[in-house]
Amino acid sequence: MGGFFGVASREDCITDLFYGTDYHSHLGTMRGGLVVNNGRGFTRFIHDITNSQFRSKFENDISKMKGNLGIGVISDNEDQPLIIASHLGDYAIATVGVIKNIDALKKEAFRKRTTHFSEMSNGEVNPTELIATLINQEGTFEDGIRRAQKAIEGSCSILLLTSKGIYAARDWHGRTPVILGRKADAYSVTMESCAFPNLDYEHFRDLGPGEIALITEDGVERVAKADGNLRICSFLWVYYGYPSSTYEGINVEQSRYRCGAALAKRDNVKPDIVAGIPDSGTGHAIGYANQAKLPHERPFVKYTPTWPRSFMPQNQSIRDLVAKMKLIPIREIIKDRKLLFCEDSIVRGTQLRDTVKRLFEAGAKEVHMRPACPPLLYGCKFLNFSRSKSILDLAGRRAVKTLEGDDCRNLDKYADPCSKCHGAMVEIIRKELGLTSLRYQRLDDLTKAIGLPKSKLCTYCWDGKG
Ligand code: SF4
Repeated sequence: MGGFFGVASREDCITDLFYGTDYHSHLGTMRGGLVVNNGRGFTRFIHDITNSQFRSKFENDISKMKGNLGIGVISDNEDQPLIIASHLGDYAIATVGVIKNIDALKKEAFRKRTTHFSEMSNGEVNPTELIATLINQEGTFEDGIRRAQKAIEGSCSILLLTSKGIYAARDWHGRTPVILGRKADAYSVTMESCAFPNLDYEHFRDLGPGEIALITEDGVERVAKADGNLRICSFLWVYYGYPSSTYEGINVEQSRYRCGAALAKRDNVKPDIVAGIPDSGTGHAIGYANQAKLPHERPFVKYTPTWPRSFMPQNQSIRDLVAKMKLIPIREIIKDRKLLFCEDSIVRGTQLRDTVKRLFEAGAKEVHMRPACPPLLYGCKFLNFSRSKSILDLAGRRAVKTLEGDDCRNLDKYADPCSKCHGAMVEIIRKELGLTSLRYQRLDDLTKAIGLPKSKLCTYCWDGKG
């Protein structure tokens, strides 16, 4: 994933740029980058944020940055923003998304014999540089960005900084949000609207799918219409969107309450307490507890002072260890009680299995799990959402393989919550995790809880329809 933020201001924009970009830190764990334009050129810094937070890495740089226009990015992959010299003029560019047809586009670029790539990393082309080469093939930024939007399979939202303003372009299907803000002396663009309130921006409007806008200190001009079909990622509301953000007019925290309430309405167990697996299960659990009129408590508390979100070791077993160290159980709340947990989703299930084991070791009588979305059956092909290398990393697909003896091609019967196949798959996952009971959210309940028509949502993870 990743996220970006941009500012066009009558005054110096650095403070807003620094904090606005920082509010995207939950979206990426590898690289952070800031660039400003002061009318004479660009000043840029990029840092590795794998083991330390964005703010601590950039706080010494911002005194060296000055300018009224700037963009910042948190990235899960490549170094960015990049600074490009082209026939369109010099510009800086940051992108969020994934290019599935990168090899074909690279080949096509080489066929013309006029392109080279200089930002190689581990033998791979930097996707943001590839997007810049697509943009440079046209006579204007608008046409170039349109060309890139149409050429890419996957998804791509773009911020492009020139000396005159910032071009903001939302992915052709609007998989990720791009949101405009304004205040008396500045306009901004963000992926997370939670960046606005503390920087005094008013949420002005969301760009539509495929829309391109030019943002200057004087306002926002639409330079290309929203011609795409909206298929915004449902997982924003389920898991990775920040609770205080609002996309397409729908707040994340409130949608999680509705998700939890939907789970409670269909449930028949009688636990002593309801809890969320921190942090993203918490909103769902509050919704469940309020609907079921049960106490909401915290049997696990996260130790945040020394375990920042951005610490994300590459090695899976160390990641599992970190996940364990972050969550501290409270025996006094767990012992001899029936516990019902809401979790955003079950991906691999390995960390959850360990968590459940620890709950029983701490004396829990029963542990019931209620994921806020259906079983994951497909890997994300639009946002690089999951780190999984194999589809069989998904707990749902492993269970299907157990039942079928092979990797099944007809997954519709497993996606149908009323089918026997679905029930058998859930039972295998329940046993694997050591749970007293396991009941997933239904996809129709999830889309209702989000509040957009299903045709406007990407639900590919669950039903293969993107
Ligand atoms: S496949 Fe899943 S994670 Fe990827 S965009 Fe669609 S809903 Fe989001």
